Amino acid sequence: MQKNKKIIFNVNKEKNFSEWFSEIVKKAELADLRYNVKGFVVFQPWSVLAMEKMYKYLEDVLQRKKHKPYFFPTVIPEKNFELEAAHVKGFTPQVFWVTYGGDKKLTEKLALRPTSETAFYQMFSYWVRSYKDLPFKTYQRANVFRYETKATRPFLRSREFHWIEAHCVHDSLESAEKQVKEDMETTKEVLHDIFGLPFIFFERPSWDKFPGALRTFAADALNPDGRVIQQPSTHILQQDFAKAFNIKFKDKDGKEKYVFLTCYGPAISRIFASVIIVHGDNKGLKFPWKIAPLQVIIIPATYDNEIIKKTMEIKKLLIKEGLSVEIDFDKEKRFGEKFYFWEMKGVPLRIEVGKKELSEKMLTIYRRDLDKKKKIKEKELLSYIKRFSKEYDENLIKKADNLFKERIIDVKSKKEIEKAVMLGKIARCDFCSLDKEGEKCAEFIEKKIGAEVRGRRVDRKEEPKGKCIICNKKAKEVVYIARSY
Ligand SMILES: [Zn+2]
Repeated sequence: MQKNKKIIFNVNKEKNFSEWFSEIVKKAELADLRYNVKGFVVFQPWSVLAMEKMYKYLEDVLQRKKHKPYFFPTVIPEKNFELEAAHVKGFTPQVFWVTYGGDKKLTEKLALRPTSETAFYQMFSYWVRSYKDLPFKTYQRANVFRYETKATRPFLRSREFHWIEAHCVHDSLESAEKQVKEDMETTKEVLHDIFGLPFIFFERPSWDKFPGALRTFAADALNPDGRVIQQPSTHILQQDFAKAFNIKFKDKDGKEKYVFLTCYGPAISRIFASVIIVHGDNKGLKFPWKIAPLQVIIIPATYDNEIIKKTMEIKKLLIKEGLSVEIDFDKEKRFGEKFYFWEMKGVPLRIEVGKKELSEKMLTIYRRDLDKKKKIKEKELLSYIKRFSKEYDENLIKKADNLFKERIIDVKSKKEIEKAVMLGKIARCDFCSLDKEGEKCAEFIEKKIGAEVRGRRVDRKEEPKGKCIICNKKAKEVVYIARSY
């Protein structure tokens, strides 16, 4: 059997991460980069199937937490953008504009939404009337467009991406604060507990906030090359937005007041990138059970009637259980070749059926998490899968969590930051301030070390003990420093 095996994918992920990523996108047919508009790619079925499942998990949680779904127009008039100064300054360089309708020049430019605050807020001003309407919680799944000038990479950074944006209206700052907490919990509940992605939520420094935000909280995940990648972020916006869009409500005391606004943006295509990157190995992809485009692949050893019949019987049984399952009938490929192919595609479980299995009433099982084969009794298949699916996800999460924890190290000098970052670590240290006065120190780190101050950790309080590692003033914060995408 061994000589039938043809290696389909073999790139060392730790050593050549960039090559690994490009290769797996191509080999597993995740995205086709040949589309003829720069920065735009075609997402292929293997990605879309997983992303659809990812959307579903996120939307289910949002709806359970009382967010209502909307579909907003893709275009936003220029005047909406111009209402809030910080927002327009932050986003204008990235906007694609529609200027013609047919051969007529439009009287007003229309933006292809880079994000939809200014679309939602326009309508919130009609919809919100009383404190009884609040909190008013919405979301939409949408694609957004940003004219990225940095190098684009499929899923990680492209000029069109797929996401969910949740926009909420509140009667007080406390309610807004409660909302961002909830958003962070949602992120953990879905991204960590279901997709298996480790991350840390940071409150971003004042110089690195969302344009127009009062406070920005963002989750950073980590790639094997040591660069962090920003995953969902959630923001409390400055009240300028409510004022600019005239979103007011009548409070319990009968007075008209401006609302508080929050927004939360989990980008599915980028989260998908992290799923590929965090779980994949030198053999290829490894999908978490619940979002695998295909959970079980059945491979017949030969095409004898009896064997074919058995594989169909198993497929039917598993489909009845709500699993996604296929049989590989491809006669062009050899038995061993199929193993490598589906391992590369990241299918969690493989079932092999041959003559021997038939006569013994057994099945050969391969599990992608342990890269191991074993035999089980055919009649125990369902109970095995039930146990396996849980164990499989736990293994993936544990592995990812451990790798992530190992990457954080304490540093005590500029030299140590430099060394840590070079080794692909996240450096933790005392730092003067995340307000304006700390910006110079952050600039120094960015220019001299090529890394960024990501912010203060949200999930636990960390007290600084000494002085700022850069300027030597008394430290008010413990911050995390890393290279980023
Ligand atoms: Zn400093």
